[in-house]
Amino acid sequence: MTTDRIARRSTLRLVLVLAAVAAVVAVAVLVVPLLLPPGPRPHFQLPVACGERWRLGTYPGHDDYDVDLFPTAGDPWGRPVLASAAGKVTVAGINGSLGGRTPGNPTGPRGRGGGYWVKIDHGGRWETQYLHLLEPPLVEVGQRVAQGEQIGRVGSTGNSGAPHLHYEQRRGWEKVETWFDGAPSGVTTDDREYSVTLTSNNCVDGER
Ligand SMILES: [Zn+2]
Repeated sequence: MTTDRIARRSTLRLVLVLAAVAAVVAVAVLVVPLLLPPGPRPHFQLPVACGERWRLGTYPGHDDYDVDLFPTAGDPWGRPVLASAAGKVTVAGINGSLGGRTPGNPTGPRGRGGGYWVKIDHGGRWETQYLHLLEPPLVEVGQRVAQGEQIGRVGSTGNSGAPHLHYEQRRGWEKVETWFDGAPSGVTTDDREYSVTLTSNNCVDGER
């Protein structure tokens, strides 16, 4: 064997070893966290301004645990949407299509899906989602947000009948019952139309 060939062989061996190490690291970093049990539930707050009362409703065909929020007083259009807990923005964009429902044309063409939306990763495999925002979100992917930080404004983009905030909490891949200020909301199945009214205690612009 020429020294050239030996050198080529040892280079190949090194490349294979590095590839194997990279594969093991990728599995450890990407897969293992998904197998770990979720962390404790963050102390979520209502995604709306401190002290405001909002009606949390659902209806048949919505989906279990999905919540639609409507203010009990005042104009819903443009109301601030706040982060329920500190976290990192993982989605800030358009789901489906926007449609044409605006404050000036509330019965304009309906869009598809969630319209302008935001998803926040709170760590421990907990996430929250905020749909049908009026305008492009006020946050960007990768940005850290504090609890109570404004991420958007209430609108009616996507598949939305009237201005409201569609909201979800997820643990791992599953939607779960929404909790606010340490208590379950009571919005669980979508087998009938019902609602609960809560007051926001999202009062402190907390740690990022
Ligand atoms: Zn909804």
